[in-house]
Amino acid sequence: MADTANQGDLETVSSSLLTVINDLHTKYKSLQEGIVANYIPELAKVNPDLFSICIATVDGQVYEVGDIKQLFTIQSISKVFSYGLALEDHGRDYVLTRVGVEPTGDAFNAIILDERSKRPYNPMVNAGAIATTSLIKGSGATERLNRLLDMFHRYIGHDVFVDISVFTSERSTGHRNRAMAHLMLNFGMIDQNIEEALDLYFQQCAVMVNCRDLAIMAATLANGGINPITGEQAVEKTYIKDILSVMYTCGMYNFAGEWAYKVGIPAKSGVCGGIMAVVPNKMGIAVFSPPLDIRGNSVRGVKVCEELSQRLGLHLFDCSGCRE
Ligand code: GLU
Repeated sequence: MADTANQGDLETVSSSLLTVINDLHTKYKSLQEGIVANYIPELAKVNPDLFSICIATVDGQVYEVGDIKQLFTIQSISKVFSYGLALEDHGRDYVLTRVGVEPTGDAFNAIILDERSKRPYNPMVNAGAIATTSLIKGSGATERLNRLLDMFHRYIGHDVFVDISVFTSERSTGHRNRAMAHLMLNFGMIDQNIEEALDLYFQQCAVMVNCRDLAIMAATLANGGINPITGEQAVEKTYIKDILSVMYTCGMYNFAGEWAYKVGIPAKSGVCGGIMAVVPNKMGIAVFSPPLDIRGNSVRGVKVCEELSQRLGLHLFDCSGCRE
């Protein structure tokens, strides 16, 4: 009897999740605001009309709508995962000596370090992400890249590749990132081989994913680090709270505070137009739509997540279900 009731609940939830994302896709498809990122020449070529939404639950159900198979480069969303790998490689105490956990309120590519500690503020801004990537262990560039790609494989459940044209495009134009790396080298926050660290950072940003992949990666974080489709442990459970905390406070560029206030779930966006959000113990959400607002967040992505959070009651501090 109980089983039948649970099954009924599950079916209701499933059909309502699909209905909600279909609704939101129809509602925001015609929204024509924002511009696609063009500071990396290759990114400017993307079709601005692409639009997909995907939800993956911690019990392995996947709901999707739109251009779900369309591949794009993961960009800044990769920062979440390399942070997890650096934590596994060195432990949180050491990583904290190299990268802080304070939100900045500044743009993602600001060339600033914490005045007193000389650390980059957090792993979600570029300086912090470059420092984080430089911590990834390996006996050489190839081994480090392979460890990163293996990590993505665990989260997604299949092989991933670096888009060489986006990688080389960013490598030849990423002067701000290069400047940050030099500044951090000056203060001993990263080690000697900055070109290798920058290459790995540009490569991780150029890993190709689709919207479904992102939702499954988010669901893996929601599920204590275990990929809900393959059952594989992608990252040690002990680091989930560290990863989600910095996503919550720093993941949405200089919109992170307003996002936490309105949407209320840990998330990370990237200049590719992707947003990945994690509802702990419940689901991962991904939206892909390339046109960005002035802070670098996908315009449709923000709208969809705001409304999803409201309609599904996802805000972590929502007390409407609390006891009277
Ligand atoms: N590869 C990009 C950069 O470093 C990532 C930017 C982003 O998605 O925020 O500029």
